[in-house]
Amino acid sequence: MFALVDGNNFYVSCERVFQPRLQGRAVVVLSNNDGCAIARSNEAKDMGIAMGAPWHQIRPLERSHGLIALSANFALYGDMSERMMALASALGYRQDVYSIDECFIHLHGVSGDLHERAQQLRQHIRRSIGIPCGIGLGSTPTRAKLANHLAKLAERHPHKYPAELAQVCDLERIDQPLLHRLLQGLPISAVWGVGRKLAPQLQSVGVHTVLDLLQSDAATMGHHWSSVLERTVRELQGTPCLDWDALPQPKQQIAYTRSFGRTVTAQGHLQEAVSEYTARAAEKLRHQHSAAGAIGVYIRTSAHQPNADERYSRGLVMTLPQASQDSAVLIGAALRALERIYQPGYRYAKAGVHLLDLQDAARLQLALPWAGTSPERPGLMQTLDSLNQRFGQTTVQWGSAGLGGRARPWSMRQERRTPAYTTRWAELPTLHAPRTPDQ
Ligand SMILES: [Mg+2]
Repeated sequence: MFALVDGNNFYVSCERVFQPRLQGRAVVVLSNNDGCAIARSNEAKDMGIAMGAPWHQIRPLERSHGLIALSANFALYGDMSERMMALASALGYRQDVYSIDECFIHLHGVSGDLHERAQQLRQHIRRSIGIPCGIGLGSTPTRAKLANHLAKLAERHPHKYPAELAQVCDLERIDQPLLHRLLQGLPISAVWGVGRKLAPQLQSVGVHTVLDLLQSDAATMGHHWSSVLERTVRELQGTPCLDWDALPQPKQQIAYTRSFGRTVTAQGHLQEAVSEYTARAAEKLRHQHSAAGAIGVYIRTSAHQPNADERYSRGLVMTLPQASQDSAVLIGAALRALERIYQPGYRYAKAGVHLLDLQDAARLQLALPWAGTSPERPGLMQTLDSLNQRFGQTTVQWGSAGLGGRARPWSMRQERRTPAYTTRWAELPTLHAPRTPDQ
C-alpha cells in the first residue's frame, strides 16, 4: 500500500496559518512579479478563477467580490513544506517527496489500521503546523493519487460524494459498485500522468472516464500510445510498476531528487550533488520552455537512521530576483541555499532540488529580455542541452558537480551495470588479438 499526503491549496493554507483573517475568504497567491494566480483557496476556485489566471484579468474581483491577492512567499512555503514532510514521514518506512506539498509514503509492512493511522496523521499535521491535508491510500502510487483526488472532491462537494471519503480516502476500501460509479464520473485527466494533450486522443477512441481507462487493456494502450500510458493503466488496475526515477512531473514544479550511492558527510560532496541535480532539473525546465522564479533545496540523512541524534533533514527555498532558466543562475542559488542548511557531522543519504514558480520563458523574454545576463546565455544553454542529449547526459557538465564521474561517492551505485557497448565511445567493446607463444 501507498499513501499520498497532499497539503490542500498549499500556498494559501501557509498564508492562512499566520493570517487567520484569510479563513473563509477568496484568496489567491500570485507568481513572481505578481503575474498570475498560482494557488487558489476553495472560495477563489468557486468564483471561477482558473489556475494561472493573469492578475490583471481577475483584479476587478478584488473590489466586486472581496478577492484577496498575495505575492508569493516561497521562503515561507518552503519552510512549512519542510515541517509538513517531517511529520508525514512518520507514517511509513520510506518517503518520496514529490513536490513542495506532496509526498508518497510506502506502507509495506506497516501494521494496524492504515485508514485510522492516516486520519491521526492528518490531525497531527493540522494541530502541529496548521496545514489541512488530504491523504489518499491505494495499492499503487497511481491509485493513492486518485484516492487523494477523491478525498479532495468529497471534502469540497459533500452533497455529491459520500462523507466518509472526505479528507482521507482508501481506494481499496470502497466497494466495487460505488467505486465504479465514482470513477465513471471522473475525466481521465484526473489520473496521474494523463496529460491534457493525451485526453482528447483517448476520447477519440471512446476512453472518456477513469473507469474506461481502468477497464482498458494495458498492452493495447502501450501498443497504440506509449509504455508510459501502459504503466499508468497497469498501476490504475493495481499492479505497481512505477519507475520512481521517471515520475510524471507536477505541472507547476520540477523536482530532481536522488538517494546517494553512499552516505556523504563533506559539504563539498553535497555541493557536487546539488549542482548536478540542479543542472538536470534546469535541462527539464528548458525542455518545457519554462523559467523558474524560485528554487528549493533539501538534504537529509537516511529515514532508517535508528538513532534520533543522527537524523537531520532541512530544506530551504531561495527566491530569484528574476525568473531564470540559466543553469548557472539556478546552481548559484541552490548552493547558497545549501550553504545555509548544511550541518557538519551528519551522514547525508539524499538531496533534492525543486524548481518552483514556473513561468513561460517566451513571455518572460518579451517582458525582460534576459536582463542581468548576457544575450549569449540562452544560446549557450541550448548548445549544452543538445550536446548532452546527443552524446550522453554528462558529456558537458558544470565544474561544481565535480569531475569524479561514477567515483563520486554520492553518484548512484551502479557497480553491476554492464557497459553501454553501443552508445558510449568510452565503453565500446575492445578486441585483444591473441598472443602467439613466440611473441
Ligand atoms: Mg496540494
